[in-house]
Amino acid sequence: MRSPSYIGRFAPSPTGPLHFGSLVAALASWLDARAAGGQWLVRMEDLDRPRCEPGAAGTILRQLEAYGLAWDGEVLVQSQRDAAYAAALDALKESGAVFPCACTRSQLAAAPRNDEGEIIYPGTCRNGLPAGQAGRAWRVRVPDVNIHFHDRIHGELQQNLAGEVGDFVVKRADGLFAYQLAAVVDDAFQGITHVVRGADLLWNTPRQIYLQNRLGLPTPVYAHVPLITNAAGQKLSKQTLAPALPDDRRGTALALALTVLGHPPPAELADSEPDGLLAWASAHWQIENVPTQPIFANPGL
Ligand code: GLU
Repeated sequence: MRSPSYIGRFAPSPTGPLHFGSLVAALASWLDARAAGGQWLVRMEDLDRPRCEPGAAGTILRQLEAYGLAWDGEVLVQSQRDAAYAAALDALKESGAVFPCACTRSQLAAAPRNDEGEIIYPGTCRNGLPAGQAGRAWRVRVPDVNIHFHDRIHGELQQNLAGEVGDFVVKRADGLFAYQLAAVVDDAFQGITHVVRGADLLWNTPRQIYLQNRLGLPTPVYAHVPLITNAAGQKLSKQTLAPALPDDRRGTALALALTVLGHPPPAELADSEPDGLLAWASAHWQIENVPTQPIFANPGL
């Protein structure tokens, strides 16, 4: 039975094939949706065209299928959604929520950074462009208030956007729409009720909640699953040369993914095919068993 009260999603960026860290995020969001009798959608976040790798979107979909992570409906592709993002930006312009910004990356390089290493925008163009300069990007003006939210794994959290992020970009200087805007517009368009994703995005959530409020869109329920790191403590990613998920030994990879998510499968399932492991895991899924801290895992696959 599908329940319309739960619609989840996995939103990979097709910058390369899925690796073990992305399997953990996909698996957690799939399990949470299936355990709730909900739908699970896939959205291809190919917004940052220069970073996308040709063929990666197809590879990711084939990997999801091979690992038994079946999705519902059509895959939404962000590179086809510019009109929707432009309409949202227009709405933000009309309500005076955004301003053009002329700052270059090098001009901002000396600004303070937050715990995530992101520049805290110092407000340079907030009250008007410097004389003779043209706007390059669009930023949302953020208020000096704490945004509170509940994460199902991390509990009650809050962030002051003005102090820890500053006015943030919704349309980039290179003309591309920013991830924050696209994610909010698409989560609403797809009717997403529950977001389960990697903890590297935890502190993007207040920005997204603020945009949802400004655009009159609903706020989904959030859960952020632990990041998987290599032995050096770096997030598994293309940049840190994480290997692609193996085509064989899928059961071994899934069993390890379940273990790092706090759901070690019983020994008799250790060498199962994906479907057996996924059936067991959907029946036993308890999001409160998922750990909060980053996890070093050597998939050794
Ligand atoms: N595309 C993002 C990523 O691959 C995920 C975005 C999201 O889940 O909101 O890291």
